[in-house]
Amino acid sequence: MRVTVVGAGILGLAVAARLASRGDDVVVVDKEPDVATHQTGRNSGVIHSGLYYAPGSLKARLGVAGSRSMTAFAREHGVRVDVCGKLVVATSDAEVARLRTLAERGTANGVAGLRWLDPAEARKVEPEVRCVAALHVPPTGIVDYRGVCAVLADQVRSAGGEVRLGTAAVAARTRHDGGPGARVQVRLADGATLVADALVACAGLHADRFARACGVDPGARVVPFRGEYYELAPDAVGLVRGLVYPVPDPRFPFLGVHLTRTLAGGVHAGPNAVLALAREGYRWRDVVPADVADSLRWPGLWRLAARHAVPGAREVARSASRRLFARSVARLVPAVRPQDLVPAPAGVRAQALGRDGRLVDDFLVADGPRQVHVVNAPSPAATASLEIARYVEQRLDATVAAA
Ligand SMILES: Cc1cc2nc3c(=O)[nH]c(=O)nc-3n(C[C@H](O)[C@H](O)[C@H](O)COP(=O)(O)OP(=O)(O)OC[C@H]3O[C@@H](n4cnc5c(N)ncnc54)[C@H](O)[C@@H]3O)c2cc1C
Repeated sequence: MRVTVVGAGILGLAVAARLASRGDDVVVVDKEPDVATHQTGRNSGVIHSGLYYAPGSLKARLGVAGSRSMTAFAREHGVRVDVCGKLVVATSDAEVARLRTLAERGTANGVAGLRWLDPAEARKVEPEVRCVAALHVPPTGIVDYRGVCAVLADQVRSAGGEVRLGTAAVAARTRHDGGPGARVQVRLADGATLVADALVACAGLHADRFARACGVDPGARVVPFRGEYYELAPDAVGLVRGLVYPVPDPRFPFLGVHLTRTLAGGVHAGPNAVLALAREGYRWRDVVPADVADSLRWPGLWRLAARHAVPGAREVARSASRRLFARSVARLVPAVRPQDLVPAPAGVRAQALGRDGRLVDDFLVADGPRQVHVVNAPSPAATASLEIARYVEQRLDATVAAA
């Protein structure tokens, strides 16, 4: 069948490569001139192991399987990958209790090789870490997600598909009058129309808007949360060997400021989480009034803000102050000083928020007739992308069979 895929981030490309490999005639469109321009090309580059996610959730199921399939894919296709393991460190007794819960979750999710460490054992793994206890997670790795996307785009093209860049999709509608021959018409910003048997949208930061423009209720609003990064200055890079994470606050979907060795041999510190003033607002000065209005009009945002006013204000303060950012990093590795932090490019997370003010924790996919929209695909969706593609394929086949 002929399928239009909107979005050439890792999810759109993974879906497109999967459909093209089974013989579907696939056209991928992305508004940007290159693949992986937004979340995929601006993330921490981590292959997560599946430690954090509620057992039975899509995140747990697809995340654990995805950690294996992404590592194997990178190795098979010569994409840079390093399964270096990570240390999650508890810096207080209260965090030790939460770390135990994480260890139990990881075990329930089937994460292999988890090891509980006392401070001396933790320092054998990461000599500069300060902690009360730590959890060693061997399957965690780092990978070049842009490199993965380049391979996926090649796979689409070599199976006869097309990756059409610099082309925004505006809206779509499914024509029902054709009975079994119903078609999905996707209107493009350049005035052209793509006619296909089905549509898959993986529009990341615009997923909810595009779903609505296609007549599909996304069930939530995407709110953009910027994650700002620093990198360690060259003379401080030796303070971290691999990946060092805090114990996350269970009230939030983000993992907390962590230290991540990069494939280039540097170390990233971050990301924090502040409300962005544009869907693609990578700096405070990036403001799109329509995006701000869109966020503010959503009752869920006010409910969220009322519940988390204090930690939210703390995140904004940390965004403005390198000293406060350094203090968060120094909780994990005390030798890191403010002057060791050099600003690095930020990313923006697309996080779906319910009307009731609850952050949508799991992956969320919405269907329309012959349409599948990935509405919420936060971390670890890059890790899980090859598995999410399989899941989307099944949802697509079901909606096509029903339409
Ligand atoms: C700061 C940060 C750190 C993260 N760290 C990790 C990590 O370490 N490990 C991990 O597994 N995950 C991580 N994630 C999450 C991960 O990056 C995302 O889950 C994943 O990249 C989502 O992929 P995507 O294809 O859905 O979105 P995107 O990569 O954002 O792609 C969506 C694409 O759709 C295009 N698009 C949107 N609207 C239209 C339109 N109307 N017409 C045409 N094109 C359109 C956009 O241009 C974009 O290219 C992180 C995310 C962020 C932001």
